[in-house]
Amino acid sequence: MSILQNAIQAMECGIEDYGMGTDSRLKSAIRNVHAGVLLLFKQKLSQLSPQDSDEALLKQKVMPEIAGSTIVWRGKGEKTVDVQSIRERFASLDVSVDWQAFDAINRIRNEIEHYYTTANNKAIQEAIAKSFAIASEFLTTQLQVDPKSQFSQHTWDVFIDVKDVYQKEKANCVQSQTNIDTESDYVRENADAMSCDACGSDLIFVDGHGGAQCRSCSKRWDRDNLIVSIVNEASWYENHMSVKDGGDPITTDCPECCKSAFIVEEMICAVCGETQQDQCNRCGTAIPIEELDGSGFCGYCSHMMSKDD
Ligand SMILES: [Zn+2]
Ligand SMILES: [Zn+2]
Ligand SMILES: [Zn+2]
Repeated sequence: MSILQNAIQAMECGIEDYGMGTDSRLKSAIRNVHAGVLLLFKQKLSQLSPQDSDEALLKQKVMPEIAGSTIVWRGKGEKTVDVQSIRERFASLDVSVDWQAFDAINRIRNEIEHYYTTANNKAIQEAIAKSFAIASEFLTTQLQVDPKSQFSQHTWDVFIDVKDVYQKEKANCVQSQTNIDTESDYVRENADAMSCDACGSDLIFVDGHGGAQCRSCSKRWDRDNLIVSIVNEASWYENHMSVKDGGDPITTDCPECCKSAFIVEEMICAVCGETQQDQCNRCGTAIPIEELDGSGFCGYCSHMMSKDD
């Protein structure tokens, strides 16, 4: 069986599991659908591998070999690429995938492995809807096959239903983001980055008081916690990369309310609205992020002035 056929079969099995609806079959549904999407990616790497390279792009290990007067790269061993390598190879080969959606599926899959309860049904639908969206797009644009021709009519119908339900819920949640009670544009613009840390779903509904509830598992956030969660989820990766390269984080703890919701670019706390000036009143240079303390002076000047006193 080809990799493509395996991929389709895994997704068909996933939808059959989903239809059974028991806890164990629902877990299996996510595993199967997720595996199917990964196999589609592998099909592409197999297609792109040069002839006589032993499917180099598909193998985790690739070794150079001398062939006559040139060097060829050949795949070695049985181990096929992991997700991280697929990502890197696709990036360098210009194969586009909605990785954000893929990460969401992964997140839900992990949460469900560990903490599944039937209350999370919407998170399962979300994972299936996102897998379907990625698979349809990938089949069409990267593998040049019509997705509808690949799946059975039943599976196709279930996919469409689940996608419609999810999209309707999602539209309501996006609409509700206008209720977020903050003065930070960064938080408003990145509200969609947030997902539930209890079940992985991104169906977060913001109520009229600025608090929120997960539409999948019912977890609640009050106004402050919602804002802090959005800031954390939106900025952790950039913070991590920036600090790794010796730069400044883009968000930090607020000197006023101590919540980790101070947006450096805006010089405002998304929770309490406290603003800070970014230039030192004494020497006029930019105050380093870690020295922002509400005084309006850089650490050096604060130190010098305390000595003067
Ligand atoms: Zn949840
Ligand atoms: Zn604050
Ligand atoms: Zn200064």
